Amino acid sequence: MPHLTTEWGNPSSAYKFGAKVKSVIETARAQVAELIGAQTREVIFTSCATESNNAAIHAALKANPNKRHIITSAVEHSSVLNYCMALEKDGYRVTYLPVDRDGLLKLADLENTIGNETSVVSLMWANNETGVLFPVKEIAEICRSRGVLYHCDAVQVAGKIEMDVRKLPIDYLSLTGHKFHAPKGIGALYIRRKTLFSPLIHGGHQEHNLRGGTESVPLIVGIGKAAELARKHLPHYDQKVRPLRDALEEGILQLIPNTELNGHKTQRLANTTNITFRGIESGALLILLDKEGICASSGSACLADSDEPSHVLKAMKPESAASRQMIRLSLAQETKEAEIPQAIAAIKTATGMLRI
Ligand code: PLP
Repeated sequence: MPHLTTEWGNPSSAYKFGAKVKSVIETARAQVAELIGAQTREVIFTSCATESNNAAIHAALKANPNKRHIITSAVEHSSVLNYCMALEKDGYRVTYLPVDRDGLLKLADLENTIGNETSVVSLMWANNETGVLFPVKEIAEICRSRGVLYHCDAVQVAGKIEMDVRKLPIDYLSLTGHKFHAPKGIGALYIRRKTLFSPLIHGGHQEHNLRGGTESVPLIVGIGKAAELARKHLPHYDQKVRPLRDALEEGILQLIPNTELNGHKTQRLANTTNITFRGIESGALLILLDKEGICASSGSACLADSDEPSHVLKAMKPESAASRQMIRLSLAQETKEAEIPQAIAAIKTATGMLRI
């Protein structure tokens, strides 16, 4: 609140009123850095993970101007996929690695695809639609051994799984505040020390000359505090959330016919479940659930108004209608036990109505 009311000085100005605010930015930077095991100077603030993802890929390409091949996967977030597609129009070659029915990647595919022309590999840590985890350590090691930069979209794992960039040779790692209860509109990018970085946003000298633009102090303070709290709650996160998610999932799969889990059963975040309801259009189910106060989605929130089937489910189960007949439910530490039977009952009623 002080930074929205009384402490509104510009952190980049020379006067004391502004300088005072600069120190809170550095505190927030240290809080975010600690969440991922980074050094404070390895973190810059961005407007969101879309910007972080774009900035990382952009920087990697600039670091290797003669290499014009990018490797990513078919199930990345649109902020990676659509940027890669735009780069294809500029003459870059992009390989979109496939996933299997469980949403898992074959490391051999990655190894076989890296070539002399490969500049960067951009593969996410956890999928936003299914929660499926990619083997980030192995991916990072393969990239390092082949001399290729590795960017990891770690948006979904912040506060849910321990992240330590000291143990993983990741070059760039993207975060966004709203996935760990910070305000929306603030992101961060980790850039490993000594890794080349050319800014995507050119302007003033903010963020150590790596990202121009006046800092959004209240949002930066927010992501810093959220990172501190996420770190504090991390040791209990799994044991709190997983049993509730499992109860929700098992309840739905057992009580509602023609349902199927999407995504690997165990190699997955503790809070996400993605289920196909055969014969039911996701959109219709979401409307009925919304009426019951249940906030679910049929894919990424960023694509919710596009009416596009889920590209993640299409990549996992291309032969089935799952991409149009699934919903994703996410839980948090705040989810209460009593909400699980409530949600199962609402979903059962809604699917019953739609299947008549
Ligand atoms: N990457 C993943 C995996 C996401 O789930 C999201 C969205 O929430 C983003 C990137 C984009 O984040 P933002 O909306 O902050 O740009």
